Amino acid sequence: MPYDDTNVFAKILRGEIPCTRLYEDEYALAFPDIRPQAPVHVLVIPKGKYVSIADFGAKASPEEITGFWRAVAAVAKLAGVEESGYRLICNAGPDSRQEVPHFHAHILGGHKLGTLLAPV
Ligand code: AMP
Repeated sequence: MPYDDTNVFAKILRGEIPCTRLYEDEYALAFPDIRPQAPVHVLVIPKGKYVSIADFGAKASPEEITGFWRAVAAVAKLAGVEESGYRLICNAGPDSRQEVPHFHAHILGGHKLGTLLAPV
């Protein structure tokens, strides 16, 4: 699937849609999810244009990949869940119900999380 420049995260990166910037560096931007599913629910997105984790893994440079995952860990620490624990979710494709076609990681925590998967 080609990258769609009109997706909501592309607009956030261009500053066309506002977000609360919790963390930003050369490789990644983090902001709260607009529909939080846990007391801490932060999205971390790479600055590059990647549709999915497969696209990111195949096309991003080693520096981008390292920078992104370091940012995820840094955001979890900033969000105060490093010690208490958290769950990372990266949805990919239709069966996962990925809504936004710009690769991203959800950081979820802030309370005891439920089982890995809710019933469909
Ligand atoms: P996914 O289903 O993995 O693609 O997740 C996309 C997430 O983006 C959902 O949890 C949405 O609530 C979230 N989302 C959509 N629009 C915005 C926005 N403008 N600001 C913050 N989060 C958003």
